Amino acid sequence: MRSSASLISTKYASMDYEVLALSTATIRRAQDAISSCESCNSEAEFPFDWVLDEVTGRDGSTTDYFLTEPAHCPRCGRSVIEKTLVEPYGGVYSF
Ligand SMILES: [Zn+2]
Repeated sequence: MRSSASLISTKYASMDYEVLALSTATIRRAQDAISSCESCNSEAEFPFDWVLDEVTGRDGSTTDYFLTEPAHCPRCGRSVIEKTLVEPYGGVYSF
């Protein structure tokens, strides 16, 4: 009984949560959707993975993103990773 219960919970966890490796093209699209980052804009308040949700159409609460290469802030050129705070470039809501 105990082992079947743990099997169910493992299955549930893997169905409910997945790691998505992002292609260079997707990373570029997300990078194009931001105008600045926390390093150069103190008002940046959205984590980059929120932008990734918009670009990929995924739900960030069930998806963990893996960047195959870092994005870069278009303003200051610093590396932008999943948890970097960014300022979306105007049209992010239109994705
Ligand atoms: Zn920046």
